Amino acid sequence: MSPTSQAAASRRGHTAATFDSLDPATGEVVGTHPVHTEEEVRAAVDLARTEAAWWAGLSFTGRKRHLTAWKAAMVQRLPELIEMVHRETGKPLGDATLEAGLAIEHIGWAAGHARRVLARRKVSPGLLMAHQSASVAYKPLGVIGVIGPWNYPVFTPLGSIAYALAAGNAVVFKPSEYTPGVGVWLAERFEEAVGRPVLQVVTGLGATGAALCHAGADKIAFTGSTATGKKVMAACAETLTPVVIEAGGKDAVIVDADADIPVAADAALWGACSNAGQTCIGVERVYVHEQVYDEFVDALTTKAARLHAGADGKIGPITMPSQLHVIRRHVQDALDKGGRAVVGGLDAVGERYVQPTILVDVPENSLAVQEETFGPTMTVAKVRDMDEAIELTNATAYGLGSTVFSKRHGMTVAERIRSGMSAVNGVISFAGIPSLPFGGVGDSGFGRIHGPDGLKEFTYAKAIARQRFRPMLTLTTFDRTEKTDRLFTRVIGLLHGPRTRR
Ligand code: NDP
Repeated sequence: MSPTSQAAASRRGHTAATFDSLDPATGEVVGTHPVHTEEEVRAAVDLARTEAAWWAGLSFTGRKRHLTAWKAAMVQRLPELIEMVHRETGKPLGDATLEAGLAIEHIGWAAGHARRVLARRKVSPGLLMAHQSASVAYKPLGVIGVIGPWNYPVFTPLGSIAYALAAGNAVVFKPSEYTPGVGVWLAERFEEAVGRPVLQVVTGLGATGAALCHAGADKIAFTGSTATGKKVMAACAETLTPVVIEAGGKDAVIVDADADIPVAADAALWGACSNAGQTCIGVERVYVHEQVYDEFVDALTTKAARLHAGADGKIGPITMPSQLHVIRRHVQDALDKGGRAVVGGLDAVGERYVQPTILVDVPENSLAVQEETFGPTMTVAKVRDMDEAIELTNATAYGLGSTVFSKRHGMTVAERIRSGMSAVNGVISFAGIPSLPFGGVGDSGFGRIHGPDGLKEFTYAKAIARQRFRPMLTLTTFDRTEKTDRLFTRVIGLLHGPRTRR
């Protein structure tokens, strides 16, 4: 059990139950962590409430100083974090480094921009209310419960945690049962740097996450599957606790006739197979203009044939063993329905690793086209034109990310895709830009992390109207006369009547 878990355990009078996190490449035990009970989770939220009062009482500059110290503590011991991510998820060290680096970038952005986005600012009161001074500020909600997945155990939860903290909230974080060590490590560095448990971690299985939904937090930020997201939302509905749901995706890449084909093929392959395809904004489908379809498939298969999953490869193991069944089922269904594997196939799905698999001629009603596969696989389909590509891209229940490769029409195609984020002539680029909001529509969830929207997500807007002088027309009084009403009607006519140009 880690020191932070132990400290937290003794603080909360911890019970004996524990669970192990395992290295998915070898099955070895990486760490043993407590299964925090409902009472312990509630105690963590209670403690967080005290911490939230202290943290919210600091200035933006004060919080920025602490968050910067946390970031520096993480950077100082980065190899440890990378090793922990590598061991708990199985992803190659290079991928773990990329993930940690991007997450740290987000902490810096959130800390550095919180004041500009959230501090009280004046807004125009409008002509009718010109006697008022109007302003709005964004206040912290209090305690945010963050429930995270295992696929990006640093980047994904920090997208909520860093923004919630920068906005002045305390956080109780429940990491996935597959990556508890990463969560504990993050909280340990925070407590070292700040000296107070404004960020706490509770560990355990799904029941611990469920307990967090009932523990009195002021908002739950959930990242995980759509199915669990629905359970979280239902649980939170009982107490009218607001939620952010960052759920799954079925992202498509669209390749236009004028696209740079080698670049598009390289990006599609990386988007589909990096992190063994276990990426919410990973590429799962590709729609290619018929004029460049053959050239694209050639470029893609040539590159994919050189890619290898294994301890010595650029693709790590499947982190969650049960996902292997999902991947196998999707490939089998695609082949049963008439699809062909031009790289990989059913044999590519092993005991721990899945080799890159490219499926063509797969009917659009197949599982591999409609449901999240979460493996290093993709379907590639030929389309007549961009209208058809957009129509098919938009024809799933998900709407998280998307990518367009086109020299001339990238922006117009991207605008027509129903997804929270699009990359043009690059892949997944939006996730690395801290000023851009991150989130989806439909089955991919709602609410936003990252950027100004991500900061505001963990606040409530506090509006204040201060009267500066007595108005010409006092409307909010029972002493209002008919003359005032007549004058008011004339003013409305002048401001909004048919001849008004405004
Ligand atoms: P899950 O939905 O299985 O789990 C997510 C988290 O919820 C875990 O911490 C889990 O705990 C917890 N949990 C499980 N049951 C409950 C419950 N009843 N109440 C509250 N919490 C619960 O997702 P995965 O961990 O498998 O993550 C993969 C999914 O995450 C994919 O669908 C992926 O697309 C999505 N994702 C979305 C992202 C986005 O930003 N939109 C980013 C990254 C991933 P435990 O692990 O202990 O069961």
